[in-house]
Amino acid sequence: MQNLWNPAEALVCGNDPVKLRVYTSRLLGQDPSLVLHGGGNTSVKTEAKNLFGETESLLHIKGSGWDLATLEPAGLVPVRLEALKKMLTLETLSDTDMVRLQRAAMLDPTGPAPSVEALLHALIPATYVDHTHADAVVTLTNTPSGEKLARDVFGPRVLLVPYVMPGFVLAKKIYELTQTQDWKLLDGIVLLNHGLFTFAETAQESYERMLSLIAKAEAYLQQKAQPVIPAQTAPEPKLLELAALRRAVSQVKGRPVLARLDANATAYYFSNLPQAAQISQRGPLTPDHVIRIKPAPLLLGENPAAAVAEFTENYQAYFKRHDRGNLQALNPAPCWAVWPGQGVVSFGVTVKETQIIGDILAHTLPAMLTAELLGGWRPVSEKDLFELEYWELEQAKLKTNARPAEFQGRIVLVTGAASGIGRACVEAFLAQGAAVAALDLDPAVHAQFNRPDVFTVAADVTDSKSLQTAVEETVRRFGGLDVLVSNAGIFPPSAAVAVQPADTWQKSLDVNLTAHQTLLQLCLPYLRWGKQPAVVIMGSKNVPAPGPGAAAYSVAKAGLTQLARVAALELAAEGIRVNVLHPNAVFDTKLWTPEVLEARARHYGLSVAAYKTNNLLRVEVTSADVARLAVTLAGQAFSKTTGAQVPIDGGNDRVI
Ligand SMILES: [Zn+2]
Repeated sequence: MQNLWNPAEALVCGNDPVKLRVYTSRLLGQDPSLVLHGGGNTSVKTEAKNLFGETESLLHIKGSGWDLATLEPAGLVPVRLEALKKMLTLETLSDTDMVRLQRAAMLDPTGPAPSVEALLHALIPATYVDHTHADAVVTLTNTPSGEKLARDVFGPRVLLVPYVMPGFVLAKKIYELTQTQDWKLLDGIVLLNHGLFTFAETAQESYERMLSLIAKAEAYLQQKAQPVIPAQTAPEPKLLELAALRRAVSQVKGRPVLARLDANATAYYFSNLPQAAQISQRGPLTPDHVIRIKPAPLLLGENPAAAVAEFTENYQAYFKRHDRGNLQALNPAPCWAVWPGQGVVSFGVTVKETQIIGDILAHTLPAMLTAELLGGWRPVSEKDLFELEYWELEQAKLKTNARPAEFQGRIVLVTGAASGIGRACVEAFLAQGAAVAALDLDPAVHAQFNRPDVFTVAADVTDSKSLQTAVEETVRRFGGLDVLVSNAGIFPPSAAVAVQPADTWQKSLDVNLTAHQTLLQLCLPYLRWGKQPAVVIMGSKNVPAPGPGAAAYSVAKAGLTQLARVAALELAAEGIRVNVLHPNAVFDTKLWTPEVLEARARHYGLSVAAYKTNNLLRVEVTSADVARLAVTLAGQAFSKTTGAQVPIDGGNDRVI
């Protein structure tokens, strides 16, 4: 636990309480062992004159949707303090009404909603209030004697509060507990199984009290409960089984999901523990994680489909056990899995979601192992978890679910991805929500797509070993493969058949034909487990309408088209579609340098501008146009078409 307070940085904030609040909030947010993905919140109380010239007390509290690590002043929402305090005098208040009243008390009602823990911040009289879900504190209290341990470790200057639901119930409970409390005698509040609050008159002191309490918990764990994780390396991942698992989970989910296998030392060790099957079922690190990872994971055995079916049944039974008939059941698909001998798997409809789950597990598994050494992992009860998972505020969110993008949860591999049509394809599939593997010979591909939903590979498509590694790594990261856009190609120097050099002829066949066959073969085992699997082959206008001097190119592309047709015949029974695009005169690609463009235009006696639109429709065809059609070909609109060849050339009288 490192104290990150830097006097020089703090000085920049001057005496502005909101700036200081932002500063120490970010210090907390930097450490994922304190707050993880939106967990935790902070506030500061100020006084300000309103438009009528009256002085008002305000609580600036973290707004929902803001993360402490990246908090800005705009993320601290000013709410009238007196209105919040008045709400605490109510006997009961639904959380929906609480949120409504909180919004009504905001200075700017169009801002983000104040945290649901705003009332608790309001009732603590100190100027600065910090709240985290620190791993060490939660771990310590997620044990059978958690309350006693907390008392011993934190001492008398901390109020201990048994778990209750966050929101109004928690704030009201602490309100009642502290009616006669002398707040000067407290440094903090520990919420068992949930997290902790610290508070003080200055930002620095509140932050340092937070660190000091967490340090106490960490020191205790260090001394009493240090799980030993052997430095083992997981075996080669079973990728076909991962793809099968992803399909089974997608089936239950009713839409494609991504599956991310984590096989780091802790995940691998945990997956092999005989007792993992029991420990993992007892609940998450802090109750609010239930929204992301459900109360328990899928336990994989010999048959993934049977395990998924069993999980689904168990989840539905859990819902029935606690529902009073007024709730809408959530999708019963698992959010993560324990895979003995492999590691843990996170499922999500986006890469971001799988990463968030992976991050949560990276904190949860060590906490489970630690608590086991302190008498057993014992988070809140199933009923408490259910109440949070089915919280009215969470149920309300279900009703606003927007229609997902067409390729969300689907996995696409694009070759020739660093420039031109390939690059445009990557962008077009990303825009439709896909996770994409972008492969190119040019290492520039790495810099072009530096984002988590793209896996970039610099590899030569004529090197089958590199292709195999790329395909396998794609599956390991995303859980499978649904769409192959086999696009990489070269345009050899123009040469008449009579003088065609053997080497450029061979090179064209290698890159434009054989490499596509090799890649298709490598992808097929995974496409078979894919969701609406499709292959898009980049052909050329030269197939239906060849030109003189381009035999090496045209012959390879014609062979490629024939490969696609045969593949369409062979793979139809397995539901894998194979279609071909025949673009022509796409000039914003690497094949077309300004010199080549000018030379070709001159050859036809045209200006460059006229040459670019030299087609029936008199339109210029761009990489983005071709990419859009590639996405459409792989998508729903073409779901009943295979073996088709679609020109995208502005209309060509030789093709028509
Ligand atoms: Zn909390």
